[in-house]
Amino acid sequence: MSDVGQRSLHQAAVEQFQRAADLIDLDPRYREILTYPKNEIIVNFPVTLDDGSLQVFTGYRIQHSNILGPYKGGLRFNPNVDLDEVRALAAWMTFKTALVGVPFGGAKGGVTIDPGDYSEREMRAVVRRFTHALGSNIGPDHDIPAPDMGTNAQTMDWVMDTYANISPPGFRQSVKGVVTGKSVECGGSVGREEATGRGVLYSLRHWCGETETRLDELSIGVQGFGNVGSFFAVQAAEQGCTIKAVGDHTGTIINNDGLDVVKLFDWVREKGGVAGFPSADTADTEDLFTADIDVFVPAALENQITAERAKVMKAHLVIEAANGPTTPEGELVLAERGVQVVPDILANAGGVAVSYFEWLQNKSAQAWSYEEVDERLRELMWQAHDRVVQVRDELGCSRRDAAYIVALRRITKVYDRRDIFP
Ligand code: GLU
Repeated sequence: MSDVGQRSLHQAAVEQFQRAADLIDLDPRYREILTYPKNEIIVNFPVTLDDGSLQVFTGYRIQHSNILGPYKGGLRFNPNVDLDEVRALAAWMTFKTALVGVPFGGAKGGVTIDPGDYSEREMRAVVRRFTHALGSNIGPDHDIPAPDMGTNAQTMDWVMDTYANISPPGFRQSVKGVVTGKSVECGGSVGREEATGRGVLYSLRHWCGETETRLDELSIGVQGFGNVGSFFAVQAAEQGCTIKAVGDHTGTIINNDGLDVVKLFDWVREKGGVAGFPSADTADTEDLFTADIDVFVPAALENQITAERAKVMKAHLVIEAANGPTTPEGELVLAERGVQVVPDILANAGGVAVSYFEWLQNKSAQAWSYEEVDERLRELMWQAHDRVVQVRDELGCSRRDAAYIVALRRITKVYDRRDIFP
C-alpha cells in the first residue's frame, strides 16, 4: 500500500479536497459523496506466457465521479499499482477535469505489472484480456481510459481494437472514442503524445507572466524522463530554459551549464534510462533535490517531495507534472519556506485536455491540425490558471486549495441543480 507514514495515498487525496471544502463551507452531503469512489472494479484474469505457463494478473478500474460527464482517466501498468493508489488517482481526475472545464468525470485504472518483464506478445495478451474483463464497464460515453505510466498509444490501440471486437458489428466504427491517446493512425489526435509535457510548459509560462519572470533565465531540474518529463524538458529547453538536472529510476545526472536534452531524449529511448549519459556528472538521487535550480518539476511517482527533501530544496517553484508528488508534510515545509507550488490537477491537465479534443474529433469524424490542438490546449490551460489565481487572490489561500475550490464550485453547481437521486 502506498502509505505515507500511517496515511494512505487515498486518505491524503481526500484530506486535500476536504481542506479546500472547509474554506468554502461545502455542503456536507457533497463532501460525503466525493470521499468515496462511485464504483470499484477489480478483475483477476489469466494470461498464457511465452514459456507456456499461466499467470493471473490483477487489474483495477476505479470510477470516482461521473457528475460532469463520462468517467475519464488513465491506465497505469506498474508494479506499485494497488487499490489505494488507483483510488487516489481516480479522485484527482475528477478534480482535474472539473478544474479545466472538460465535460468528464474522474476514473483511473491499472494492472499490477512491470511491463519490462514481459514480451510484446505477452503485453498484448495482458491488455486484450484486461479489456475483455472490463467489458461494458468502459465505453465511449461511459468510461474512457487513456495512457498513464507504463502504457502508451500502442496499449490504447489494443484496448480500442479489443473493445471494437466485442461490440456489435454495427458499432465497431463508432466505438473508437472508448479510449484516448491512441496512435494518430488509429484515430488518435496529433499533439496528444506531448500534450501533458506541453501543458506543464504552459503552466510555467503562465507563472512567468504572473510573476514577471523571464522564461529563458530559469534553470530547471526534472524528476522522471518518461512521456511527461522528456517532452517537457525538450520543449522548455527549446524556449531557452536551462535543464540542469534530470533523475530517473536509473540514476541522476547534472550539468550546471545545461544538459543537451534532445540528445538525452534519444539516449533514454535507446538505453532505457538517463544513467551513463555523456557530458554530465553522475549524482545521487538526493542530489536532484538539492541541485542549484530555480524550478523543480517532479514528473515521476507520487510521494517524492517529503518534508526532509522540502527542507533542503533550493528551487523556489515546484510544478507538479506527476500526480501527487508532494506529501502533505512536504507541502507544509514548502509553504513555510515560501516555495511556490503549481498543483498537479492544474499543471498536468494538458493530457486530459487533449484527450477531450481527441474524443471530440472521434465523435465528429474529424482530424484537427496540430496548430488547432495546440492553440486550444494553451487556451484551456491558461483559462484554468486564471481562474485559480483569481480564487487564490480572492481567498488568500494556496494555489492547490484554489484549484480544488474552482473544481468543487463547478461540481457543486451541478449537484445543486440535479439533486441527489431518488
Ligand atoms: N493519465 C493522464 C492523467 O493523469 C491522462 C488522463 C486522460 O487523458 O484521460 O491526467
